[in-house]
Amino acid sequence: MEQVDVVVIGAGVVGLAVARALAVGEREVMVLEREAAIGQGTSSRNSEVIHAGIYYPAGSLKAQLCVRGKHMLYGYCEQRGVAHRRCGKLIVANTPSQVAALPAIVQKARANGVDDLVLLTREQARAMEPHLKCLAALHSPSTGIVDSHALMLTLQGDLENAGGLVACHSAVDRLRAVAGGIEVHAADGTALRARMVVNAAGLQACGLAQRTEGLDPCHVPRPWYAKGSYFTLAGRSPFQHLIYPAPEPDKHLAGLGVHLTIDLGGQAKFGPDVQWVDDPEALQVDPARGDGFYAEVRKYWPGLPDGALLPGYAGMRPKINGPHEAAADFRIDGPAVHGVPGLVNLFGIESPGLTSCLAIGEHVAGLLSARS
Ligand SMILES: Cc1cc2nc3c(=O)[nH]c(=O)nc-3n(C[C@H](O)[C@H](O)[C@H](O)COP(=O)(O)OP(=O)(O)OC[C@H]3O[C@@H](n4cnc5c(N)ncnc54)[C@H](O)[C@@H]3O)c2cc1C
Repeated sequence: MEQVDVVVIGAGVVGLAVARALAVGEREVMVLEREAAIGQGTSSRNSEVIHAGIYYPAGSLKAQLCVRGKHMLYGYCEQRGVAHRRCGKLIVANTPSQVAALPAIVQKARANGVDDLVLLTREQARAMEPHLKCLAALHSPSTGIVDSHALMLTLQGDLENAGGLVACHSAVDRLRAVAGGIEVHAADGTALRARMVVNAAGLQACGLAQRTEGLDPCHVPRPWYAKGSYFTLAGRSPFQHLIYPAPEPDKHLAGLGVHLTIDLGGQAKFGPDVQWVDDPEALQVDPARGDGFYAEVRKYWPGLPDGALLPGYAGMRPKINGPHEAAADFRIDGPAVHGVPGLVNLFGIESPGLTSCLAIGEHVAGLLSARS
């Protein structure tokens, strides 16, 4: 059986960032990807926002890795010429209870090390965005956007320059823990033996962990899928900043509300909404869902013309909590958690996974360095 030092399963932005961190750290790394190309999963079906790190519970992996990942990502994009823009975002309050909750958002952000939020009056917000309707707003200057595909290509380039390899058309069927390593059995019947394996299979990570001989099933969470559909705006964006509705206090949400994001070409899109589904492959956008978008968007942009929203695309959140449960943290389970030497499972890497990718890479490399 062929032997490698590290196998990373999945060539999304997280798998590639983990593989890059390990290869730059002088590991021999092979990434196995079931599709014909990198980045065909959730990594190419998201908002491409570099999140500031505002809402996550203090001390959570999401909070820590988002804030560290944001700084690392801006530095990396600048250094490597990956297209991005620090465009900033406005969190807009349109009800008295949303206004009253804005200072608590500032406090929450501070607890995560995000201390650049600015409270704006209606007039100040409208001076920045004349088409905006709001009672008050928060400005987050460190929020931005990134070309996620260019980022993935650059990560792959770094990985390959460091001697690593991405093998596409390489679906992993199952894993088996053996003395001194882990066998990686591919769907085509071939097998490899690795000293370490990182399961970064995104929506399939829980399923693959279930097919890992030697891993106690109690360490595999139940997967849930929350689809997010986007509708694109016909014509030019009237906004320069990303626009997010302020959360309704005490309302439990699986996403961040129907917000407006812009891409680097200036195209505006609204979404993603939240629809819990059973099939992670159900990615077609139902045009009828657009009806609900008009009312949500007009709360902060009353000028949205009838018929201006066109069905865009959908992404699938790899959740590990159900619809009526509190939002789960990222789960990055190393040997100290599950007891299988050399194995790291990444579960529930939903938003802010893109923002956090470089910090997740660093974190996983740290978990595995104990085993060098
Ligand atoms: C609607 C939506 C909006 C989002 N917006 C943002 C945002 O604005 N900012 C942000 O920071 N984050 C955002 N995210 C989160 C971000 O997109 C994800 O956290 C990130 O893309 C996850 O990357 P990944 O590499 O873990 O997963 P994926 O990109 O899904 O990659 C997993 C890879 O594993 C491969 N694979 C699966 N099974 C196997 C197998 N058995 N063998 C081999 N390969 C396999 C898949 O083909 C895939 O390429 C959003 C997510 C969603 C759903």
